[in-house]
Amino acid sequence: MPELPEVETVRRGLAPVMEGVVIERLELRRPDLRFPFPDDFEAIATGRAVISMGRRAKYLLADLDDANVIIMHLGMSGSFRIESDDASDTPGEFHRARSRLEAHDHVIFHLKGADGGVNRIIYNDPRRFGFMLISPRNTLEQHPSFVGLGVEPVGNALDAETLALKFSGKRTPLKAALLDQRIIAGLGNIYVCEALWRTGLSPKRKAGTLVRKSGAPTPRLAELVINIRDIIAEAIEAGGSSLRDHAQTDGTMGYFQHRFAAYDREGEPCAKPTCDGTITRITQSGRSTFYCPKCQR
Ligand SMILES: [Zn+2]
Repeated sequence: MPELPEVETVRRGLAPVMEGVVIERLELRRPDLRFPFPDDFEAIATGRAVISMGRRAKYLLADLDDANVIIMHLGMSGSFRIESDDASDTPGEFHRARSRLEAHDHVIFHLKGADGGVNRIIYNDPRRFGFMLISPRNTLEQHPSFVGLGVEPVGNALDAETLALKFSGKRTPLKAALLDQRIIAGLGNIYVCEALWRTGLSPKRKAGTLVRKSGAPTPRLAELVINIRDIIAEAIEAGGSSLRDHAQTDGTMGYFQHRFAAYDREGEPCAKPTCDGTITRITQSGRSTFYCPKCQR
């Protein structure tokens, strides 16, 4: 499953190509992905200009000039390929390399008026857990995909006071509370592990222990919030800056693997210079947690 920074790097790759450009034709090569395509999807999209490419949690949002929004989710294995007559590029940094097999090209946006001779944006998805839906912009927040979604983990929306309100009195393990999409939208397993490691907080600690009796956040909660925002921003930055180097063929993307300090490092020494602990893997709510029991308290 792509994490939020990956989705954001895809958005940043698509935005300059798609914004202000008309969808001349939408080509659906099958009736569905994870869900059936919306009725009249081709008719709704054809001839419309894309006003902006946005993102909410792990959803990509293409705002059309008739006030509809195309909601796109990459599922497990989805990617977009930007093609011009003589070149092709896959924006985004993924943990695993993306498929380029044409048999998995399911949706093609034929564009008119894009820069650089770009004429096709192709959605490829071997496992077909991705999906595309349509919603009017003015009811987007009530759409089943978005209702009850928490704050974005980037920018000013996430602050310690907001988290303190949500964590107050909670006996849920901190790891589970941070993965709760109703609290923070789009923060996935990898970045929760990394933020807890960087802050030195145990994933098993009760979320409510980071809130004072007055309801105010403790300094450690404030530090955690800063680390979450920094780690997401760093990952987006790294992905964004290496868009051009995407074409690796060994099945893995270098930057993610090398940047993780705790995630997927079971049995390795803790990377903190002052700690001689070992990264340990435990299972919480059915998912792997990687942490250092020595310095994460
Ligand atoms: Zn440690």
